[in-house]
Amino acid sequence: MAKGNIGVTSENIFPVIKKFLYSDHEIFLRELVSNAVDATQKLRTLASVGEAKGELGDTKVYITIDKDKKTLTVSDHGIGMTAEEVDKYINQIAFSGAEEFVNKYKDQAAAIIGHFGLGFYSAFMVSSKVEIFSLSYKEDAKAVHWSCDGSPEYTMEETIKAERGTDIVLHIDDENLDFLEDSKIEGLLKKYCKFLPVEIVFGKKKEWKDGREQETDEDNIINDTNPAWTRKPADLTEEDYTNFYHELYPMQYDEPLFHIHLNVDYPFHLTGILYFPRIKNNLDVHRQKIQLYCNQVFVTDEIENIVPEYLTLLHGVLDSPDIPLNVSRSYLQADQNVKKISSHITKKVADKLQEIFKNEREDFEKKWNDIKLFIQYGMLSDEKFYERANSFALFENVDGKYFTLDELKEQLKDKQTDKDGNLILLYTQDKDATYAYIERAKQKGYEVLLLNGELDVHAISQAEQKNEKLRFVRVDSDTIENLIKKEEQAKVELTEQQQDALRFSFTAELPKNDKENYTVTLEALGEQELPVVLTQNEFMRRMRDMSKHQQGMMSFYGSMPDNYNFVLNTSHQKVQALLQDIQKATQAQVEPLLDKLAEQQKQENELKEAQKDKKQDELTEEEKKAVTEITKQIAATKNDIQKVYADNAKDNQQLHQLIDIALLAAGKLQGEALAKFVNRSVELL
Ligand code: ADP
Repeated sequence: MAKGNIGVTSENIFPVIKKFLYSDHEIFLRELVSNAVDATQKLRTLASVGEAKGELGDTKVYITIDKDKKTLTVSDHGIGMTAEEVDKYINQIAFSGAEEFVNKYKDQAAAIIGHFGLGFYSAFMVSSKVEIFSLSYKEDAKAVHWSCDGSPEYTMEETIKAERGTDIVLHIDDENLDFLEDSKIEGLLKKYCKFLPVEIVFGKKKEWKDGREQETDEDNIINDTNPAWTRKPADLTEEDYTNFYHELYPMQYDEPLFHIHLNVDYPFHLTGILYFPRIKNNLDVHRQKIQLYCNQVFVTDEIENIVPEYLTLLHGVLDSPDIPLNVSRSYLQADQNVKKISSHITKKVADKLQEIFKNEREDFEKKWNDIKLFIQYGMLSDEKFYERANSFALFENVDGKYFTLDELKEQLKDKQTDKDGNLILLYTQDKDATYAYIERAKQKGYEVLLLNGELDVHAISQAEQKNEKLRFVRVDSDTIENLIKKEEQAKVELTEQQQDALRFSFTAELPKNDKENYTVTLEALGEQELPVVLTQNEFMRRMRDMSKHQQGMMSFYGSMPDNYNFVLNTSHQKVQALLQDIQKATQAQVEPLLDKLAEQQKQENELKEAQKDKKQDELTEEEKKAVTEITKQIAATKNDIQKVYADNAKDNQQLHQLIDIALLAAGKLQGEALAKFVNRSVELL
């Protein structure tokens, strides 16, 4: 029997492995099964070139658990190892400065493994002793038995082994006994080994018989050795792709929208299939993740640092031996290969979308609402993707027609350019709530877009930034004349007193609450237009909308009340009639007050005139007091006037009718207010 020390520096590697790899214990299984698969594939290759003689026989890899002996065994019928090879590959894990290395990668447990060819040694994370029984495929080879209890000492001796290949026997230590549970191991095999290229057997298939689960004679094969992404696209049907999708995500019932089969040889190796899922809402988004494989071995589904974030919305698999697997995240992001892979995938995804848009536009439009979130997310977060996607990103109008931005520009430039040369694109976020506004816009021959997606408000702000002289304006953000200003507007031809009469009367009766602010404005919109409209300033409203997804500065907007403009059309005959009504009803009270006000203002002017050449500090206390006094009196009189209008407004049916019509058209009349409106309307019939 040979004894020796494993070739590491004086510092022992095993405590290091056990300590730092704590969180990733389970990957030992992936490492050992991968080695077994490699050994099997090597044998197949040798056999195919005639270097391995004799029958290949059974080439499956078996995982077995012996609960009594507390062992887990990985057996293959691959090339096996001779004593010299065990010495070379297992004993001489020669690398210098184990300590230095470990310190460097302290927080990257997994970095130690794999990256430095320590796969086999990960077995010691869960074992008190590891044994190797191996018989090489080479003619006249002698079987070898290697054993090591976790100290740098090992033993090696000749042994008898009937079958070619290697058994790795792990004596599971007391802290890791859960690795002797069938369900645990089966779960790990399904996670890491589901698509390995060599059949992996774990026990026998079970079936329900006589009311209980019973073992059959059939091997329980864990994996699909020939997954779709490793095959040629030409050999696959649509159904194959869909089936593979469900194989990847057994819990996902929705069908994917379409797929992209990736196959790159140069300058890096990458294969994979990406699927566009139906994204209905935010909740759905990260339930299924893209899985990353390395030569069919599952590595991770945390791929945030390998593809741009918006691509993580896709589903599917990526397989590349060129992605450094076990290194830190920051290292990954800086890695040139990873950067290339990432931009390649971006390009492929954009190409595919472009292709469908070009060749199957109808189908593309049908799927648009399902992929819109993804595309907008990509456009907002990746400049390159924006440039490509701009040509196929769509805008839907309220009638379900779709346009690209360029198409909109071309078709609407004559009708919807304002007097300053801005192309104004009108939109709504809610077709029903703004129905009246949409209708008026349509009557004018305007197009109204439906932008009710989660990212729409950000997308249009981006479009405005990228396109000079392009503005998006919500259809209810101003009166129809002002939405797209074509020429200077007619002036409001009312005296100051008349304007006050209207303003005070309406202000008094408009809704009052913490969440909304109403401001009355007067505009001469023309006799044909509606007497009243409720509008909401685009800028403020959009800031609020955008703040929904933000924190900090932006959330300030979110906490502000909604601001509405109650626009009275002073050219409308009903408004003029109402004004006359108000004036008549309030005349007796308002006129004396107005006289009083005029007198007070006269006094104020005289005072100011008398004081105008004096500086503030030259004024006597008395003089100062006189000014304050008269200012107060004026305010009080104005207040009284306002109150007269307010009192009068309370029971003015016409006035309430106008307010309610504006609220109703804006979808804001509900509950008690709506009931009152109905009753009043009946009375007024
Ligand atoms: P890596 O697999 O990254 O090279 P390992 O420590 O896992 O590092 O394995 C070291 C070497 O030991 C392998 O490259 C292979 O030559 C040999 N080896 C490990 N497991 C087996 C096996 N089951 N059959 C044949 N050779 C093996």
